[in-house]
Amino acid sequence: MKTICDFNFKDEKALIRVDFNVPLENGRVTDSTRIRSAIPTISKIIKDGGACILMSHLGRPNGFEDKFSLIQIKAELDSLLKIETKFCEDCVGSIAEEMSNNLLMGEVLLLENLRFYNEETEGDDEFSKKLSKLATCFVNDAFGTAHRPHASTTVVAKYFENKFFGKLLEKEVLALKKVMNNGNSPILAVLGGSKISSKIPIIENIIDKVDDIIIGGGMSFTFIKALGGKIGLSIHEDSMMEKALGIIELAKQKNTKIHLPVDVVCAKEFKEGAESKIFPIDSIPNEYEGLDSGPESVEKFKRIIMSSKTILWNGPVGVFELESFSKGTKEIGIAIAESTKSGAFSLVGGGDSVAAVKKFNLENEVSYVSTGGGAMLESLEGKILPGISALKK
Ligand code: AMP
Repeated sequence: MKTICDFNFKDEKALIRVDFNVPLENGRVTDSTRIRSAIPTISKIIKDGGACILMSHLGRPNGFEDKFSLIQIKAELDSLLKIETKFCEDCVGSIAEEMSNNLLMGEVLLLENLRFYNEETEGDDEFSKKLSKLATCFVNDAFGTAHRPHASTTVVAKYFENKFFGKLLEKEVLALKKVMNNGNSPILAVLGGSKISSKIPIIENIIDKVDDIIIGGGMSFTFIKALGGKIGLSIHEDSMMEKALGIIELAKQKNTKIHLPVDVVCAKEFKEGAESKIFPIDSIPNEYEGLDSGPESVEKFKRIIMSSKTILWNGPVGVFELESFSKGTKEIGIAIAESTKSGAFSLVGGGDSVAAVKKFNLENEVSYVSTGGGAMLESLEGKILPGISALKK
């Protein structure tokens, strides 16, 4: 892994793929996490005496559309960098080339939304070549799009001799390695969420890399039903029952322990404030559905979490978006934070568990919170991300 720390950027113009796909409201950035995450890379290059040309996508525009213009994030970027950045109303072509030529060392140029061109997502070679004309070296710091074989994330890399992992991309890859390749045992994966079908490839990939797997939330009901339990109206996927039994069998062969919930908080209605009752996980009455981990399950899961040295958390163990059914997920988050305080390494990644740690203010209490939803899921499935392999070629 060649990272930006291995190189002196003095007099270099670095084309940096960042992920500035941030939420906006009335033209203002409402969550600047992704912009903040790119600052260390930009600062290092500027400090070395180089210049930065930043490229990103924003949303899913249909051609040039003002509401997807990256000009909207310039003010936030300027205030975080504490400098006045330059903005180019195009990302390729003569204007972009001229602005890049005139860019002085120490300056930052933000290019317009890459996805104003279909060539970006098509991974078009000509478009990639045009992007490459703007700089002397390439840095990828956009983990969130590293699973996409797009022009700016993957194809452009081949036009550069000098290409590097940015600090954010490096951190993401190292955090993943710490769990999947060189984590301290016992290694635990806490998996939840609603859809078991989307989590099967992850389970199959990690089953011989971890010691324990906690399966909570909606996805646990397919396992419970497959094992002969009564799950009432709880979410499940009949077509996945055989797979679920296969996983239990595989876990036995690999000596990996699978931990399922023992009780569950249920309601007759899926809504905030619905009257709830606790039932054993395999005896849910017909008119009830399981919506949150029960207190005994939480206690059982907490004990496992506290005795683990490496923890991966992907997916909530209940409908945490509704206050009435958020307790289990919150307690699991707190337990992971406590285990981290006692020395465990914890990685939270892949969609909704990230939203959960943010909701419960635990972001700074775990070792690492991934910035990439789909990219993290694909990494956990064992796939090599095209944006990462392009940097290694
Ligand atoms: P996923 O995208 O598959 O990771 O699922 C995340 C979603 O699973 C969240 O929106 C949770 O509300 C939902 N979820 C977790 N537990 C349950 C459950 N017991 N019943 C229904 N949905 C659930």
